[in-house]
Amino acid sequence: MSCEKKLFLRLNNAHFNFVVYKMAKIGRGNMLSILSILILLEFTSCQHSSSTTLGYIATADTAVAGFDSTMIQPEPKKSPLLITKWDSLQKNLITFQVDSINPVDVKLQKRRLKDSLRREFDNKPKHVYLTFDDGPLIGSAAIDSIATAKDIKINAFLVGRHANMSKRLKRDLEKYRSNPLVGCYNHSYTHGMNRFSAFYSNPNTAFADFEKNEVDLALTHKIIRLPGRNIWIYDDVRKIDLQSGSSTADLLYTNGYKIYGWDVEWRIHGLTGKPIQSVGEIYHRIRNFMNNKSSLTPNNVVLLMHDDMFQNKKGQLLLTALIDSLKREDYQFDFIEDYPKRY
Ligand SMILES: [Zn+2]
Repeated sequence: MSCEKKLFLRLNNAHFNFVVYKMAKIGRGNMLSILSILILLEFTSCQHSSSTTLGYIATADTAVAGFDSTMIQPEPKKSPLLITKWDSLQKNLITFQVDSINPVDVKLQKRRLKDSLRREFDNKPKHVYLTFDDGPLIGSAAIDSIATAKDIKINAFLVGRHANMSKRLKRDLEKYRSNPLVGCYNHSYTHGMNRFSAFYSNPNTAFADFEKNEVDLALTHKIIRLPGRNIWIYDDVRKIDLQSGSSTADLLYTNGYKIYGWDVEWRIHGLTGKPIQSVGEIYHRIRNFMNNKSSLTPNNVVLLMHDDMFQNKKGQLLLTALIDSLKREDYQFDFIEDYPKRY
């Protein structure tokens, strides 16, 4: 469960009573300030609650609660002072019965809580992870040059088989490998020959394919993106888009790999090889993801692209334009090995 949801639940239980009590005692005029203080207090407590802090705790393919129902209960036995406080609170709840004709607007509370969290996130750096899949391909050399020219970190999920297709591609792979601004990661050796269901139907051979890629390309990080699947498994997160692929992903994870999917995809046209969405569209999608906290981790957005989108000058100019837009917003460009950046 996200921190925000947890806070919301807590506000609607013990703290809800407390807020109502305060309303009865000091009037509605001060309601907003009390609520703000509670939100800030809760926000702080969530920040320190565990290593997952503001990230998601997820199992299976849905996010679930790391929420302990005992958390919403007062602990009156610990301190006599607290007993008094809660006793008087209970008494004042009689006032609440009368006030319930005008119940607190839950939607409004929720929106304020969201806004409050968003303001906190807006004070923190925003991280974007540019990930390029399927290289080395025609387009990789240009991506490598753009990363250097713009002085930004990028991520290449590599397919070993492509490197063995020509001398040129082998050379382009070496460019990536020798560039300190390019993180090199594992996208399998064969790319499942683009027959993904067949590829994932045997997790052991799929696993061996990733291992071969790691050895052939001398990859140093145990970080993988599955071909054709948007699957995430790392730390306490497990998010699966299609069940076919999940057994392979689990096998990889239990053998020490982290698997990363993506939040936003800059899609490629199947026939022309050109990017489908405009730079403006993709930029706004990234921005919306940051602002709405719909990415897997707040303030972290992973963008998926493919190397062959940037074969020609036109495509390369689009990539440069996107990077310039993100730079203007002071986004930080990070390696996926550092994902997620939490506060
Ligand atoms: Zn791929």
